[in-house]
Order: sequence, then structure tokens, then C-alpha cells
Amino acid sequence: MSGWLAIAGLGPGDAALITPEVSAALAGATDVLGYTPYVARVAAREGLNLHASDNREELARARHALRLAAGGRKAVIVSSGDPGVFAMAAAVFEVLEEQPEWAAVEVRVLPGITAMLAAAAKAGAPLGHDFCAINLSDNLKPWAVIEKRLRLAAAADFAMAFYNPRSKSRPDGFGKTLAILREVCEAERLVVFARAVSTPQERISLVTLAEATPEMADMQTIVLVGNSQTRKAGRFVYTPRAAS
Ligand code: SAH
Repeated sequence: MSGWLAIAGLGPGDAALITPEVSAALAGATDVLGYTPYVARVAAREGLNLHASDNREELARARHALRLAAGGRKAVIVSSGDPGVFAMAAAVFEVLEEQPEWAAVEVRVLPGITAMLAAAAKAGAPLGHDFCAINLSDNLKPWAVIEKRLRLAAAADFAMAFYNPRSKSRPDGFGKTLAILREVCEAERLVVFARAVSTPQERISLVTLAEATPEMADMQTIVLVGNSQTRKAGRFVYTPRAAS
């Protein structure tokens, strides 16, 4: 019996945004592993073991899944959005680098629709020209690195997507982020707050940088900041494809 490991993205929330490839992997799995709210999105069925764990246990989860696959089980690690964007795929490769005894395990990464793309589509096309994605959590990198990347990205006039903008354990980082942007960008710069995109709780709001406040973001929100050319078109916002 040969096992395998798939690291799969469940998309932003709506089941219609899960790819057929991910659905097929889940249908063939014996084990599903992941952060508790993501595992809760997988339907229970006979013969499927669900292993839910805390979001600070990523390396332990990756080891567990590789051990299962090496033993002949068909394991799927689920992430929200895309598994390669601030999620589990890199954690699995970190473990594989440390523990080469699992190098023979069949591993596949199955893409999903990441939050910034789902949010951008709801708002219009704010990421229509060059853009970057920054994780505002300083759990895995020093704040100084975040601040440097923010300043350089704003100076280079990238549109920006901010993941993990604000949490109870990190209440101040997003306020500092807005203050840095106000030093570099004009007050009219357009900012999209997109919360719980593609779920019944979805809320999309469009404000200017001058109007943006830290309380507009939480851990279920992705923040999209336009570049200097980003503009409104009726109820939509878009960034022209050409730079001027
Ligand atoms: N792998 C995920 C990102 C994980 S980091 C992906 O590709 O989307 C978690 C952060 O993603 C959250 O703090 C939030 O900023 C963003 N996010 C995830 N799902 C979201 C959704 N449905 N709506 C808005 N933001 C979301």
C-alpha cells in the first residue's frame, strides 16, 4: 500500500471556490489534518479520520502527516485559501529538509484561491497592476523587517495586500502600518477592507487612507491598498494596467 500527502487549499470559504482537484484528493483521503476551523470545513464520512489542531502546531502537524503517508495512509493537510500563501506547504518542506528519511513520500501541493484574489474580485480589480503581499504578523519575523518591506513597497508604488492585519495578541501593528503608509502615500489613497470574503458574514468596505482606522481590520480581514493610480469606477475600484 503506498501512501501520499497532499497539501490542499480550501479557498476563502465558499464551497463553490474549492477546486475539483482538491475535492478529488479529499474524496480519496484516509486522513485530514489542519487547524481546527479549516478541518471543520471538511465533511465527515465513514473511513475518514479528522485530525484538528491548534494553529501554532504547524511543524508537529507536518511531521504527523508525513508519518501517516510514510506508513501507507492517504493524508491531506488543509489550509484556507492557498496552501503556499502564509500556510502549511512551506512547513512541510521545512520538515522534509530536516528529516530526509521522508524524502520518498509522494507529496503534492494543490493550489486554492487565496484571500487577496477573492477579495480583489469582489472589489473590482485593485490588483490589476504590479502588487505585493505582506503578512503583517510578527510571529515569524521581526517587526523591523515588516516595516522595511512596507516602506519600500509603498515607495515603489506597488498595490499591497495585507494578510493577518490585526489580532488580539497583536493589537498595535496595524495602527503602525497605517501611520507608515500616511508618511509615504497621499491621503486619498484607496483602501479596501474585505472581511470573511465568500462567507455569509462577508463585508467589503472602500475608504481612503485618511479615513482608515485600525478597528476596521481583524483576523478575518484582508486589506488591499491601491497604488497611486487606483481609482473608482461606479461601485468598483480598479488599478489601470499601465503605469504612468
Ligand atoms: N493561506 C491563506 C492565508 C492564511 S493567513 C490564503 O491563501 O488565503 C490568514 C489571513 O488570511 C487572515 O488573517 C486574513 O487576512 C486572510 N483571509 C483568509 N481567509 C479570508 C477571507 N475569507 N476573507 C478575508 N480575509 C481572509
